[in-house]
Amino acid sequence: MINQAHIFGKDESLLVECQNGFRLLPKVCGAFKKMQAAAAQDNVDIQIVSSYRSFERQLKIWQSKWSGKVTLLDVNENTIDATALSDQEKIIAILTWSALPGASRHHWGTDLDVYDKKSVEQSQHDFKLVCKEYEQGPCTELNNWLSEHASQFGFNRPYAEYNGGIAREPWHLSFQASADKMLGLLDEQVLLDNLRKSDIPGLDSIIANMPDIYQRFVLNRGLI
Ligand SMILES: [Zn+2]
Repeated sequence: MINQAHIFGKDESLLVECQNGFRLLPKVCGAFKKMQAAAAQDNVDIQIVSSYRSFERQLKIWQSKWSGKVTLLDVNENTIDATALSDQEKIIAILTWSALPGASRHHWGTDLDVYDKKSVEQSQHDFKLVCKEYEQGPCTELNNWLSEHASQFGFNRPYAEYNGGIAREPWHLSFQASADKMLGLLDEQVLLDNLRKSDIPGLDSIIANMPDIYQRFVLNRGLI
């Protein structure tokens, strides 16, 4: 049974190790392996870059971006000068690429990021997980393959288009039937309670802007 702790990245009991240490729900892992085998027939080497992430892991990502240890990017993947931003602007900049702890689809065991390992290695490209690599780079064939075939295996791409919320992430796959259930169990108030219990930087500004953040980034409805 899916419980609320699972949705918020605080219960790992339903996950299995799928491949190379990456964890997913068993059903999602099975579907992924079928898709991977089909892609291999077409000479596309789909491998996982990231799958399940815990609340704590997502919090660490947030902290490293807040502190400036990791550079912030705008929606077009250009560097932002974080020192010039207000707390609210910084939160929006982080949320464009990284979810709030407790609100990442990577908590659910249904979502994963993929790349074309063989093609990247052959290109001797310093892989960065950016859009260009999926549009005019070593993962273009993978991108096209996914557009054509991912849905046959139950996967969709929730961040295929930018609408003012989360930036385009052509590498992000979601096992739609299971993920839709998780999304239905998300709750703004429980998310806030989890954040209050954490030591997330920027908490006051997050609380003040939560209704907007929730619509625009958590539900990714963008700017309506
Ligand atoms: Zn992702």
